[in-house]
Amino acid sequence: MIVSLYNALSKSVQPVKPLTEGEISIYSCGPTVYNTAHIGNMRSFLFADILQRVMRVVGGYGVRWVMNITDIDDKTIADSAMGSSSWPKELGAQVDDSMVNLRRLTEYYSEMFLNDIARLGIERKHFLAMPRATDYIDEMRNLTQKIIDAGYGYVSGGSVYFNVAAYRKTHTYGRIFHVDMENFREGVRIDADEYDRDSVSDFVLWKARKGNEPFWDFTVAGENLPGRPGWHIECSAMSKQLLGLPFDVHTGGVDNRFPHHEDELAQCCAGYHIVEQATFWCHGEFLEVDGGKMSKSLNNFYTVTDLLERGLDIRDVRFSLISGHYRNKLNFTFDGVVAAGKTRIRIQQLIWQLLKKTNLKSYIGSDISVLGEPLFLQQSVYTALAEDLHMPRALAELFSALPKIMIAELDISQATQYLEVLWGVNCVLNVWEFTEQIFAEIPEHVAKIASARWLAKSEKRWADADALRDEIASNGFVMKDGKDGYTLEPVP
Ligand SMILES: [Zn+2]
Repeated sequence: MIVSLYNALSKSVQPVKPLTEGEISIYSCGPTVYNTAHIGNMRSFLFADILQRVMRVVGGYGVRWVMNITDIDDKTIADSAMGSSSWPKELGAQVDDSMVNLRRLTEYYSEMFLNDIARLGIERKHFLAMPRATDYIDEMRNLTQKIIDAGYGYVSGGSVYFNVAAYRKTHTYGRIFHVDMENFREGVRIDADEYDRDSVSDFVLWKARKGNEPFWDFTVAGENLPGRPGWHIECSAMSKQLLGLPFDVHTGGVDNRFPHHEDELAQCCAGYHIVEQATFWCHGEFLEVDGGKMSKSLNNFYTVTDLLERGLDIRDVRFSLISGHYRNKLNFTFDGVVAAGKTRIRIQQLIWQLLKKTNLKSYIGSDISVLGEPLFLQQSVYTALAEDLHMPRALAELFSALPKIMIAELDISQATQYLEVLWGVNCVLNVWEFTEQIFAEIPEHVAKIASARWLAKSEKRWADADALRDEIASNGFVMKDGKDGYTLEPVP
């Protein structure tokens, strides 16, 4: 199936035509590893994960997916400078070498990040590479030199800057994100990695070392400029080295559009003499928490660990974070995750029923042909996903089919076909298990409450029976009454 995506370059939804037949290359701006990523960051990475999975499953493509680890930026450098007051306490004392400090700091948070995305169902096997900026300094120096040679870069005060005015004479600046050039401050230089659209000016390609910061050498026109690359040039250089330019899809959060992506694109066009860095530029919207912006002062700044410590199921968290359309803001609440979990479990129960029906302990997708109603369901879900990853519609298609699937009336072949369809959908969503339901052992105290309730019911003490049923539920079990007895099952 052809997959369409909203492209920030054309400001429209367009079909993706891969540059290499049968294969899609995707570059995703990854985390800056100076602290623990919060769930707002995670939504952006989950959007990229869904995109690459839709390309594999719905598009049928092989996918080359690269996500970088930003271990060089204003924050990681400032924190690892010797004597820095913002060095994280959890790492113990600094050593007398800022480069070693940088490595210690960024490896610590990289590990945490990799652990968090794994828990959220983003699988390591899907990445072609997760490059660290510190391993690609050569290409960053190389590109900076090319930009200078082409007449779009200049040295000032030990740093190298991109000359936006010179670039605008031959190229358009503001293709990804509309930049009001009335605010353009010609000849003004900005050193910060992140700046707002009112500060459009010459941006930094290579930053002069300050104080005790870690640094690399870089010789330009015979002069050594000890320093380090700017954030934007890292992604230009790494995407070129790992995917080749142009590639198919570049992803990030909406906050990456300007200046990060705009500057990335300008650098590639200026230094590598190409017309496009990527055919598509796609951006995931922000996550809000409790209807507003996440902030440390409001105490609603959650990490994956925070959510697990509050007892949420990680699959429900993933389901809740991917359930909205990626181009719409999503409001995250704890109640919302619990509600998402109740919805998610309905499909899980269907999978368990289908396994029982087919006498299978587990199911793994195979090449069986799918026909009739199962095929119709598959096509409606895949069509929604192929149209700019319309997850809300895909889920609506899936759940509206649920009441029509009568397990008792299915033969084994039809039941297997439904398993196959759900397996395929789960290769995108990754929130369900395809192994038979295993009931936990009933704890003794729960068994005692159950028999007390059965007695209360037989004596028509309804209020007591209801209270005891609630007590059973609060212990994680459901009591199902039959004519001559009852069963206890864990709350799914
Ligand atoms: Zn980037």
